[in-house]
Amino acid sequence: MFDMECPFCSPQIEKRVIYENSLARLILTQDAINPGQALVLSKRHIATLYELNENEFNAMYLLAKRVADIFINTFSYDGVNLLLNSGVAAGQTIPHAHIHIVPRILGDVPIAREWLNPLLQRKEYNPTHTELMHYSKIFKNELEKS
Ligand SMILES: [Zn+2]
Repeated sequence: MFDMECPFCSPQIEKRVIYENSLARLILTQDAINPGQALVLSKRHIATLYELNENEFNAMYLLAKRVADIFINTFSYDGVNLLLNSGVAAGQTIPHAHIHIVPRILGDVPIAREWLNPLLQRKEYNPTHTELMHYSKIFKNELEKS
């Protein structure tokens, strides 16, 4: 369902999509703690995890795993967080199901809840347009290989 109020359904999101399949999309996040931090979105407007069907859930997590593998194998990050906040109580701020794929460097941020703070994310890392293009190109190339 198209939802004008939803930032992940707005026409502007199309320009940020760097990869998609029939059920899920990949974008880079604008508030990141490390370069390349990304989001997998359900292609359909669905507010929460609970409303995803199994095919959508599988497609989203398989895409998230592939991106996580790229962080480890191509960018040599130390670790990756996959995080799906479902519901306001769980910290969900945008009511469209999405998975955060957070590349981690040993000791970068002490605990997971701190990097959910947008102010902290902006303090830690502000991607330049060139960096966003660089990561977009690499993700696209890696994901289209298989
Ligand atoms: Zn939406």
